[in-house]
Amino acid sequence: MATKHILIVPGDGIGQEVTTEGKRVLEKIASVFGHTFSFDEALVGHAAIEATGDPLPAETLDKMKKSDAILFGAVGHPKYDNDPSAKVRPEQGLLRMRKELGLYANLRPIKLFDELLSASSIKPEILKGADILFFRELTGDIYFGEKGRKNNGDTAFDIAEYSRYEVERIGRKAFEAARTRSKRLCSVDKANVIETSRLWREVIQKLALEYPDVTVDHQFVDATAMLLIKDPRRFDVVVTANLFGDILTDEASQIAGSMGMLASASIGDGPGVYEPIHGSAHDITGKGIANPLASILSAALLLDISFGLKAESNAVIKAVEALLKEGFRSADIADANTPADKILNTAAIGEEVLKRIGK
Ligand code: NAD
Repeated sequence: MATKHILIVPGDGIGQEVTTEGKRVLEKIASVFGHTFSFDEALVGHAAIEATGDPLPAETLDKMKKSDAILFGAVGHPKYDNDPSAKVRPEQGLLRMRKELGLYANLRPIKLFDELLSASSIKPEILKGADILFFRELTGDIYFGEKGRKNNGDTAFDIAEYSRYEVERIGRKAFEAARTRSKRLCSVDKANVIETSRLWREVIQKLALEYPDVTVDHQFVDATAMLLIKDPRRFDVVVTANLFGDILTDEASQIAGSMGMLASASIGDGPGVYEPIHGSAHDITGKGIANPLASILSAALLLDISFGLKAESNAVIKAVEALLKEGFRSADIADANTPADKILNTAAIGEEVLKRIGK
């Protein structure tokens, strides 16, 4: 029996709507499995700017640091999308949160539910059974090194840097995850050309000696980009640097078909942050039709990764699978064959998940 404190940070737009359902699922898990979860809520993004002038108020950060895990919604508002020069912006809240909480690994499970095979642009026979867990490094690489211009601005440079320590700490997380899955790890780099990649490979090879039960495959990023589409089932746990991970995880998200289904986790040494990969979706905000399953699957990740509650996490995933099997869909994942009475709104999808937990 676990006693944990969870901070709910809904943010903006549909972030509010979907996070409500994620929280309801966590409450249901606590009651079915006999855990004690306490909840608090905090502002971020546009909602926080409106209330305090700051996209990540000190009070929010303080609550985050005191929590055991954070269920996050999304940030963003059309006001800023149309005004790139705005000095205070919702996404600053997101970036500062990552930095302040020292979140160095972004985990993205890419799992296609069989019932949604037709929603992907890749052939069903190639996709069926694909189940990949990406580990993208978040704090190093070309994003954070020295950058600038020379030759009167006609030449630009961005320095990519990685330390042994940075590669090792995410490498360990990936090896440990591989141990709990199929014991296969694919490390992606460009060690034939890039020096940071040569260090990356050296560190992963050394770590591999500590995990003799895990089979490691080193792959070049260009080959990985091709193989992800050609044969996604060959991958299980994948670990890679910040830039390669940025590109490969977006490519891989298409394997799962819809944005409304994909969850992610950002972890560091403190509380983990669990959030859908989608944004605040202004086009559907307030209509009650947002798909809450990415937030609900983020709650499942939270249970597994931050609390080690594997059975509870699986109970959530099984409930989602069951409702999809019975034909229930939110509008974004419905197709021409979905009967009108099976297309449910946000709260009703949440309700269907709750009904199936503990059965
Ligand atoms: P988006 O992910 O919000 O929406 C893209 C499309 O997918 C939209 O048509 C939307 O209706 C649909 N969609 C997304 N989630 C859905 C769901 N759960 N159910 C049903 N349909 C869903 O991306 P965008 O439109 O490019 O950006 C909107 C805002 O979100 C912007 O302000 C952007 O800056 C912000 N954003 C935030 C994050 C984040 O908080 N992590 C990520 C991406 C974008």
